[in-house]
Amino acid sequence: MKLGKYSMGLGDRFSHQGEAQLRAIMKANKSGLDISPVWNKSNREHTYVHSYPADVRKEADAAVAALGFTGKYFVDADHINFGNVAPFVESSDFFTLDVASFIGKESKAEDIKFFVSSCDKYLGNLVIPGIEHPLLVTKDFLEKIAGKFLAATQQAADIYNFLKTEKGEGNFVTEVSMDEVETPQTPIELLFILKMLANKGVPAQTIAPKFTGRFNKGVDYTGNIDQFAKEFEEDVLVIDFAVKEFGLPEELKLSIHSGSDKFSIYPIMAQVIKKYDKGLHVKTAGTTWLEEVIGLAVAGGEALDLAKQIYANSFNRKDELCAPYADVIDIDESKLPSVEEVNAWTSEKFANTLRHIPGHPDYNPNFRQLIHVAYKVASEMGATYNNLLEKYADVIGSCVEENIYERHLKRLFNL
Ligand SMILES: [Zn+2]
Repeated sequence: MKLGKYSMGLGDRFSHQGEAQLRAIMKANKSGLDISPVWNKSNREHTYVHSYPADVRKEADAAVAALGFTGKYFVDADHINFGNVAPFVESSDFFTLDVASFIGKESKAEDIKFFVSSCDKYLGNLVIPGIEHPLLVTKDFLEKIAGKFLAATQQAADIYNFLKTEKGEGNFVTEVSMDEVETPQTPIELLFILKMLANKGVPAQTIAPKFTGRFNKGVDYTGNIDQFAKEFEEDVLVIDFAVKEFGLPEELKLSIHSGSDKFSIYPIMAQVIKKYDKGLHVKTAGTTWLEEVIGLAVAGGEALDLAKQIYANSFNRKDELCAPYADVIDIDESKLPSVEEVNAWTSEKFANTLRHIPGHPDYNPNFRQLIHVAYKVASEMGATYNNLLEKYADVIGSCVEENIYERHLKRLFNL
């Protein structure tokens, strides 16, 4: 099972927007692209909204059938580990093996020795075509890198082998992720991580490193854009080299766990993949939940009242809601509007404050990040929330579609 060259990860917390998301992909594909939708949901999201992996499969299949989509599509067990993968086995055909917590864990001396000796031919000045300066590879450096990443790649191999037994070889797509950590992996680290995966027989089709900069939830990239551009380009070149040298799947590509809405770096990624004619996987998730709240606000009346209620509950419980996401949000509390203030807002004012239009005078990234992490609040509303999603499906669906197409796909694929 091969993932296509271009693919987009779509998250849908409450499982109502599959068709709207697919409409956006199909609209982009009308321009001659072949983007595969990948519906992703992590164990954490399932826990918060009390859904099950089978629900994502049901939603994806139903959307594809309803719209007559004939391309490839996938269901991603996002950020799974050995302990929680089992319930995803049946319904998923894409698995994101999150091995970040094994970075820096100890490996056996003989395993390190084996890895270092497998890299003998790369000792000295290693030239990666396209990268300006040769990389100086020493034994000492290889031992250090093995000490840092070998256990994580072993963990990836263990989960992969479990899945291979359960699902059969070639029946699923494997992604390896190390993005949920503080320190970014350098292109040269990525190169040898790929060597370790190849040594262990993990046929990764996508790899998600941690990049330079902050990937806060639902808002734009913060960081040094030039450095990101250099790192991203070098990663692409490193992957190309790794595929040829290490025998990894030829479709291997970068997976960007965007945290949604990294608009300022989308054009950079677009330019680099075009320059080298490479593929790309971009994961989004919470951006669709935010469009549901925007859609409710736009619908007005009782729906706007519910959107305001969501904000009030989020505001009153911000410490509790933000805590699990502390590393991936930056909220300036002094810039959050009061509940009273928001309660007086019109549909337009609420939607414009939440909607991610960079430079719009009403757009407030603090407000947006708070609601991003507050989907638990909507989940607790249960039927009240879900019924209004159904009642106002048309307006909410067009918000979701417009967001994925206009703000994401257009920037990512130069449409
Ligand atoms: Zn991630």
